Amino acid sequence: MTNKERIKQLYETTHLDDEGLRLLLTTMTKEDEDYLYACAREVRHAVYGHDIYMRGLIEFSSICKNDCYYCGLRRSNKNAERYRLTKEQILSCTDTGYELGFRTFVLQSGEDPYYTDDKICDIVAAIKERHPDCAITLSIGEKSRESYQAYYDAGANRYLLRHETSNPDHYRYLHPEALTIENRKRCLKDLKEIGYQVGCGIMVNSPGQTVDHIIEDLHYMQDFQPHMVGIGPFIPHKDTPFKDEKKGTLIDTLHLLAIIRLMIPEVLLPATTALGTIDPRGRELGVLAGANVIMPNLSPKDVRTKYMLYDGKICTGEEAAECRFCMERRMEAIGYQVVESRGDHIHKQFVDSE
Ligand code: SAH
Repeated sequence: MTNKERIKQLYETTHLDDEGLRLLLTTMTKEDEDYLYACAREVRHAVYGHDIYMRGLIEFSSICKNDCYYCGLRRSNKNAERYRLTKEQILSCTDTGYELGFRTFVLQSGEDPYYTDDKICDIVAAIKERHPDCAITLSIGEKSRESYQAYYDAGANRYLLRHETSNPDHYRYLHPEALTIENRKRCLKDLKEIGYQVGCGIMVNSPGQTVDHIIEDLHYMQDFQPHMVGIGPFIPHKDTPFKDEKKGTLIDTLHLLAIIRLMIPEVLLPATTALGTIDPRGRELGVLAGANVIMPNLSPKDVRTKYMLYDGKICTGEEAAECRFCMERRMEAIGYQVVESRGDHIHKQFVDSE
């Protein structure tokens, strides 16, 4: 079998054996690659057309009780500048975002115990009240099922929790003892059962990651059938134990985006900020490899440089409006249009939009 035949099989059946995946991940030529991206685009056009869904990202706290070895917000990083946004500041971000055409808000933070369940529910309900036609996505880490249920009942629609890696040894390599892959997967399962549109995902080329790990991740994702998959290259942060590790590559990230589009055709797939950070055209190339979502930053300008997951993060000096119109221009330049829509998963479009 040639790589082209492997890609064709993936395109036609969404499945490929481990050896086939391994060869695709390690031996593709430029020509194979172009064919892979063309197939991924075709699938994406069939499901979501040329629309690009926008999510307004609000990074509301840089305080974290966890100590993940890769992340600049880890609690042991004494150089990190910490901040918290008030409810009023968050609402002001969503008001600005609404004016700019955003119909999804992603509230992301470190795992900050200051924001109790009551506080989160109160913020979610307040956004819903002001903007009932918007979807709310939470990305605030590992919680109990009861907490997830409470946020959902308060009006949250979606939840992003990257599993980071599905291999237990690799998970241990990236995280201290207190964090386990079992709990991470438990969270994802609870979230899905509650009724959220759920996103999992990984960092590409994270320290210790092998091709076998990636194949395991692809299987995990295909079994789990998430509504969203967030992937971006690992990028070292200077104040973490992984400061001297190599950053992930554009090419590996693009290959994976396209393979995920073929394996889970209806998935919502963002071209991430990390991808835009390692290459000035990263997000455009991500969209051309099958991605259909972008997440411009809506956080207040004065806190942006403090939400530093990794070094060199882009879009830290711009106003929300600049990011939004910059993305619109970039997408138009490659033949796609940014739409003013909640951008729900195709199977969830008429379910929780009432
Ligand atoms: N506390 C939340 C949000 C974490 S930040 C949670 O636990 O889900 C969101 C994502 O950024 C993480 O899931 C991780 O995959 C990514 N990230 C963190 N550090 C990174 C780094 N150094 N390079 C690239 N991505 C990183």
